[in-house]
Amino acid sequence: MKRAYNFGAGPSALPTEVLLEAQKELLDFKGSGLSIMEASHRSALYAEIHDNAQSLMRELYAIPDEYEILFLQGGASMQFAMVPMNLKQSGRVQFANTGAWSVKAIKEAKIAGMSVEVIASSEETSFDRIPETINFDDAIDYAHITSNNTIYGTQYHTYPSSKAPLVVDASSDIFSYPVDWSKVSMMYAGAQKNAGPSGVTIVIMKKSLIRDNNTLPTMLRYKTHADNNSLYNTPPTFGIYLLNLTMEWIKKQGGIKAIESINQTKADILYKAIDESNGFYISHAQKESRSLMNVSFNIKGKNQEVEAKLIKKTEEAGMIGLKGHRSTGGLRASIYNGVPLEAVEALVALLKEFAQEEYTNV
Ligand SMILES: *Cc1c(COP(=O)(O)O)cnc(C)c1O
Repeated sequence: MKRAYNFGAGPSALPTEVLLEAQKELLDFKGSGLSIMEASHRSALYAEIHDNAQSLMRELYAIPDEYEILFLQGGASMQFAMVPMNLKQSGRVQFANTGAWSVKAIKEAKIAGMSVEVIASSEETSFDRIPETINFDDAIDYAHITSNNTIYGTQYHTYPSSKAPLVVDASSDIFSYPVDWSKVSMMYAGAQKNAGPSGVTIVIMKKSLIRDNNTLPTMLRYKTHADNNSLYNTPPTFGIYLLNLTMEWIKKQGGIKAIESINQTKADILYKAIDESNGFYISHAQKESRSLMNVSFNIKGKNQEVEAKLIKKTEEAGMIGLKGHRSTGGLRASIYNGVPLEAVEALVALLKEFAQEEYTNV
């Protein structure tokens, strides 16, 4: 069996151990004679997985008891709309705009009738950084940030403080470092970048933010899902099963702190190769805002021919998903939890070799 080095931005690499376990159990889950995919979401067989996924998340991510953990559908993009619909009181919300995903969240908040204030932005410099000062007002319904900017490769290394509830879109860095929950009232993420397959959306929110709102469609109320332990309707059972296996894998690695330290190593060697390339590779993100999850970089002079040659070379070496997003160009290496150090080491070696071969040509 040959597994590619997958640097895709999402859906992205899952730990091989997780997939092997799923393969082993695919036809006969723990002697039940069923695939877990075929089991009722009301069965004891499935209930154990559902509850275990939640309790492992709570344990590993140190989520306090006053937070609810929900498994929803519709992706982070659905949360862009559900958050304002459910959290709207006065109608005032403030955003830090750090890229395309923030922009989409802002757009949906406006559609939901919120009065949106963008109080900090890095748009003028092509979203190459996290704004230095972010001061949210106290008298707003909530404040919103995108913790990791998947396209531009920037990341908050500390969350801003906010008296108003801070809502974090952590789609591309959930479970990659310990979170200071005293700062966060709500976090949401599509599972497909760092936690499992697409189809499951993780919501972690303070119970006090879950309100009865009879004017919203039943499925769009957090209360519906909280009251029913995310089993109001059929949840994405197979996705939650894989999420549970991923949580077990994180635990085996030594927990979130251990994962963070591996992530730091992976990012360090990659940024080092970029910084020590004599200007051949140029990081999109400013140093202090660099993401440990997505490393976006260009080739000197943004030479498209050389870029295409490099991408071809990575593909020949069994690496996939390195082409940058169309808005930044260049390359992007997504090095989520599931990407092994070995893959990043192979990429670093290839980048060094390529720079040496090509430097005089650009
Ligand atoms: C991928 C991504 C999204 C969109 O997630 P979906 O689950 O596809 O809706 C939102 N925010 C961020 C930061 C992302 O990386």
